[in-house]
Amino acid sequence: MIDLTEAQQHILGAVGILEPRAVALGEALGLVNAVPVTAAESVPPFANSAMDGYAVRAADVAGAGSDDPISLRVVGELPAGHAPTVAVGAGEAIRIMTGAPMPDGADAIVMVEQTRAGEDGTVLIELSATSGDHVRAAGGDVSPGDVVVEAGVRLRPAHLGVLASVGRSEVTAYPRPRVGVLSTGDELVGDGSQLAPGQIRDSNRPMLLALLRELGAEAVDLGSARDDEAVIAAAIGSAVDGCDAVITSGGVSVGDYDAVKVVLNRLAPGSMHWWQIRIKPAKPLAFGVVQGVPVFGLPGNPVSSHVSFELFARPALLRMTGHAEVFRTPVPMTAGVGLTRRADGKTHFVRVRTERGPDGPVAVSSGSQYSNALLAMAGADGLAVLPDGPGCEPGTKVEVLVLGPE
Ligand code: AMP
Ligand code: MG
Repeated sequence: MIDLTEAQQHILGAVGILEPRAVALGEALGLVNAVPVTAAESVPPFANSAMDGYAVRAADVAGAGSDDPISLRVVGELPAGHAPTVAVGAGEAIRIMTGAPMPDGADAIVMVEQTRAGEDGTVLIELSATSGDHVRAAGGDVSPGDVVVEAGVRLRPAHLGVLASVGRSEVTAYPRPRVGVLSTGDELVGDGSQLAPGQIRDSNRPMLLALLRELGAEAVDLGSARDDEAVIAAAIGSAVDGCDAVITSGGVSVGDYDAVKVVLNRLAPGSMHWWQIRIKPAKPLAFGVVQGVPVFGLPGNPVSSHVSFELFARPALLRMTGHAEVFRTPVPMTAGVGLTRRADGKTHFVRVRTERGPDGPVAVSSGSQYSNALLAMAGADGLAVLPDGPGCEPGTKVEVLVLGPE
């Protein structure tokens, strides 16, 4: 048996990082930026009004107040998107909307709320202004030459907005990995048809495909293969042609029909590992690199498959796509019920539901902890990490890996 971190580090050391490529902004959410982006434009591109109001000369409205307003002649109106055609002279103002360019001559904006209509095309200014009031300077947010998105940053919606603001329509990013998912097992039925004696439904495949999509990968459904070495070898062989990684489930235990490990041993000579890892669930794992493509042979029990994906495939896929941090940060919580265990030399990952307690989050067992009991996995939003030992009495501290996209 080997330790969890040893298996994880081995896998991270064996996977390559995908070649960055140009990606349209509309496709880039969640990807990691590969090349620092330097602005070639100013944002805003020109000085403009931050308020709906009047563009004035600050010197003209010195000392204005609601009791002694100053009257200015309104010489124009300026909506956003239009260039000024007249300048603001002494004693004059231009009605201006948010985002409209500052007209020549004006150096401050008085908010419309601080004004009232005067007679004969005048406006009464009820507040004095200082030069620059409510004016957004050209380049106030971004100047040419500024790095607006560093390499290594995971692109969130605001990054895409910033890139658009400096005129970019593409970004060079690590691409979404194409990841194939193959179920293995003579017993599996995947099409909703009547179960014959001994058959079960294929629950791993939709679950693993969804875990991949949740991670931002392009999930490729490879169907399911019988427990036949030739069939599984053909399926993995063609999968590695079109995928950046392949995930199989089943066939890596010590049963007589566990063909995946046998096939991987043949397809990935020298790089294939078949491990027993000191964890529960998800003890067995096969891993190998076939023609440069990592193949993860996850165990068949659905909870084991899920946890194995979380602990091994997820970090590897994050590493392949340029993420610096590939492991979740454990969240300290208070143990609720059901988090005691017996010492067995393994780290246990207990399916928990996290709840809001009076002193922060509390983790409660979500139900059966058998590795086939997928319902309790579905009821969980975290995995409590219980190091070898007696586990956690209620009220003590426990670390939880909170599941989900982030
Ligand atoms: P294996 O790892 O192939 O020995 O399978 C372990 C257990 O997981 C067996 O009870 C299998 O029937 C079950 N199993 C394997 N693959 C799947 C799957 N795709 N969906 C649901 N259960 C599965
Ligand atoms: Mg099997």
